[in-house]
Amino acid sequence: MPSIFSKIISGEIKGKIVHQDDHCAVIVDIQPVSPTHLLIVPKKEITSIASATREDQNLLGHLLLTAAKVAKDLGLDKSGYRLVTNIGQDGGQSVDHLHIHLVGGRPFTWPPG
Ligand code: 5GP
Repeated sequence: MPSIFSKIISGEIKGKIVHQDDHCAVIVDIQPVSPTHLLIVPKKEITSIASATREDQNLLGHLLLTAAKVAKDLGLDKSGYRLVTNIGQDGGQSVDHLHIHLVGGRPFTWPPG
């Protein structure tokens, strides 16, 4: 069964997509934690970075470079931003389709709570 993100990408359910290419889509998070909260999602349904393989190497690079480009286009490169990918239960992953959170527009603390 397609993930919630695949359904957004296919148009089966509503979602705001701000960038799309052959390999990924950038979706506005439905519950933003910051003024900018985007999800960089590969069209290939990989569960998480933990189940990615060498075959996905170029795709993973593409996701990071896309995140950086989108952040730059939004002017976030000046103030900074954070990229996060949650993995599994302890990582706080709630959607089992790999995605990179791009959060920005306010300062973040470290370490996470
Ligand atoms: P995770 O918890 O897996 O790291 O992140 C999943 C993210 O997907 C959460 O930030 C959550 O708000 C977002 N999300 C869950 N369901 C939907 C949805 O239907 N539409 C959109 N745009 N985002 C969603």
